[in-house]
Amino acid sequence: MTESLPIVYLKKREDRRIRRGHPWVFSNEVDTDRSPLQQFEAGDSVELRAADETSLGSGYINPRSLIAVRLLGRGTHHRLTNSLLKRRFEQALALREKLFTKPFYRLVHGEGDALPGLVIDRYGSVFTVQISTAGMDAATEKVVTLLQEMFAPEAIVLRNDIASRALEGLEQTITVADGSVPESIEIEENDARFIVNPSAGQKTGWFYDQRLNRQILRRYSAGLKVLDLFSYTGGFGINAALAGATEVCCMDSSASALAGVAQNASLNGVSDQVETLEDDVFKTLGRLRSEGRKFDLVIVDPPALIPRRKDRVAGGRAYERLNRQAIALLEKDGYFFSASCSFHLDAEQLRDAIFLGARTEGRRLQFLERGQQGPDHPIRPNMPESEYLKLFVSRVMSG
Ligand code: SAH
Repeated sequence: MTESLPIVYLKKREDRRIRRGHPWVFSNEVDTDRSPLQQFEAGDSVELRAADETSLGSGYINPRSLIAVRLLGRGTHHRLTNSLLKRRFEQALALREKLFTKPFYRLVHGEGDALPGLVIDRYGSVFTVQISTAGMDAATEKVVTLLQEMFAPEAIVLRNDIASRALEGLEQTITVADGSVPESIEIEENDARFIVNPSAGQKTGWFYDQRLNRQILRRYSAGLKVLDLFSYTGGFGINAALAGATEVCCMDSSASALAGVAQNASLNGVSDQVETLEDDVFKTLGRLRSEGRKFDLVIVDPPALIPRRKDRVAGGRAYERLNRQAIALLEKDGYFFSASCSFHLDAEQLRDAIFLGARTEGRRLQFLERGQQGPDHPIRPNMPESEYLKLFVSRVMSG
């Protein structure tokens, strides 16, 4: 017999989004007269019900977080047990093994893999785990044990250093849960090789989500002079060079990211084509323009400029300005790759920012392709937050 879970009731009419598949309940949607939040501990398992008693699913709660409940599924008894985790890990792995021949990918992508609060990236036999919620944090040991059983890894790093943990009352730390972590691991992506530092690299070490977009870039790059803005360790720039770009300039404000670019350029035999520029993109684009610097292809892949919903207006303007300034550096009939990983900026807003930038610069625009996060970052139906990465490829015409 499975014990029934404590119940969280929604206010009237707050069940529509959930019924359509969205897995989050915000704290203001909870009927706190019927189910006072203070009776719960962060991480408790709960069943969710509509005001009319219909069961909507089960998951875990954090009474102190704006996102109060995260659902694990539609049933009434879903808890983060070993068997639930194992089943979902196996489902996640089966997809990645279908997609990739080499063990370099995002293994678990939070809600996209029905494991809210959990991200796992795989670098061969080294795994980085990022846990962002109290509910998942309480299951850390189970997650680690399961990885040990399934993969016998060389090392597991807990990259619990993301800012959003504070919203859940969790500490920010980086710890080694198993093994000893090599400072650098070589991975392969689209036949290019890259060095990843799983403990010290940004986020979880590598941005696997841009894999398909880097492939798109390869089709355009031959013979071109390329500017890769917010390059990190050269995910885009190295691909451009491998595809025959004559010159690639990778710009980032992080010295260690650019040291990575140099290392990756050498690893792929393209050092002669690749240079680095350590600078703040927002401060430098105006200067490059006044110096008359021009490029045939510019890539813009900034960090999320709209971290919170309330920054939407200011963030939207930041995208507009950035896209306009980048477009201003394009040679006539140049190519423009513009990405956004802010889930508060939808694809139409990004497209508008690009269009406005081109119009302000007196350029005519052709939209050519649209890219998104790769399939190891699955999207949930009716959960816009899970469709976070957008990319537009355009040609910016003169005359
Ligand atoms: N394009 C990269 C990922 C970019 S992540 C890839 O394909 O792997 C965002 C990068 O922007 C980080 O490397 C960070 O160091 C850099 N960054 C953040 N703010 C910046 C700024 N103001 N100027 C330049 N780089 C910045």
